[in-house]
Amino acid sequence: MTPDKSIGRLSLYRRILNTIDDDSRRHIYSHELAAMAGSSAAQVRRDIMIIGYSGNPNRGYDIKELAESIGIFLDDEEGQFAALIGVGNLGRAILAYFSGRRPKLKITAAFDIDPKKYGRVIHGCHCHSFAELPVIVQKENLSVGIITVPAAQAQNTAEALIKTGITGIINFAPVRLKTPPNIYVEDIDMTMALEKVAYFARIHENGRLTH
Ligand code: NAD
Repeated sequence: MTPDKSIGRLSLYRRILNTIDDDSRRHIYSHELAAMAGSSAAQVRRDIMIIGYSGNPNRGYDIKELAESIGIFLDDEEGQFAALIGVGNLGRAILAYFSGRRPKLKITAAFDIDPKKYGRVIHGCHCHSFAELPVIVQKENLSVGIITVPAAQAQNTAEALIKTGITGIINFAPVRLKTPPNIYVEDIDMTMALEKVAYFARIHENGRLTH
């Protein structure tokens, strides 16, 4: 199986390639892409070998072709659909950001326990009662779950998602989920990131970092 770090880097390379909005250039060298991605040229070449794309050593990689090849490798041909659970502050921000952004990976259904949110369309996504989760997952063929509920509800939510057959979860709640080994979980802890950065910003400001 492809290592998940390579998958993460390929996703980053595609985003970088898609931002190169310069009609005068068609090609990019591995060392240029590496500099933009904070990686090494050798790492870029290894990652790109995984997807079976080869560039011309003299001209580099064709930017458009490489982005397309990464897409063929990363995206499901038929498209993949995600459910978001917990349409609060963070949930709504995520729906707003991803709305219309990725044709092959869409958040098509949101769920909450607040009846005031049932039946609403939030940034293009239908909000359902949480009780409808199993039916909608089957009906809309959802394969990814995004957890944006309060921490105390996260484990129950993960278990409910797994029961529907979902095998990939992004967890924004600050709890370590207990899940079976066949479930892929990515934890995103923004509070930890903010606290870490604030700590090191303070250390750097005070000139206390010696290396
Ligand atoms: P919020 O209170 O605004 O929203 C939570 C939503 O989840 C509400 O709409 C609530 O009705 C719903 N909910 C509660 N229990 C549920 C359940 N069992 N099933 C379905 N829906 C349920 O909270 P928030 O600020 O959006 O934060 C959500 C989660 O993300 C929290 O775990 C928080 O720690 C984490 N988080 C938030 C932020 C942020 O910037 N807001 C940043 C990092 C992490």
